[in-house]
Amino acid sequence: MKLTKCMCGGSLGDLVVEKDGVKMKAQKCGKCGETYIPGSEMLRYDMIKGKSSMVRKVRKSGDSMVVTVPKQIIEKFNVHDGDVIAFEPHGKEIKIKIVHAE
Ligand SMILES: [Zn+2]
Repeated sequence: MKLTKCMCGGSLGDLVVEKDGVKMKAQKCGKCGETYIPGSEMLRYDMIKGKSSMVRKVRKSGDSMVVTVPKQIIEKFNVHDGDVIAFEPHGKEIKIKIVHAE
């Protein structure tokens, strides 16, 4: 989501911030100097830096796209080989339901 105005009322300009060698598209307020980095860019940073174990890269496998399940999810939701994962679209987000195999 792109903001058009800062909390202070100043207008935002596009800017690229570099953090540990990772370039992120951000916005900076011309009035107070506040920098806004979108959540999607933060996620990308975490993924590149391997900081978030809850982020997965999508890979191509034949005609499908494959995503692995994070270890924390496997443990918390007791996911086993053969279980089914159901995707429920909710607007721009997807809810994932784990259905255990008998
Ligand atoms: Zn501002």
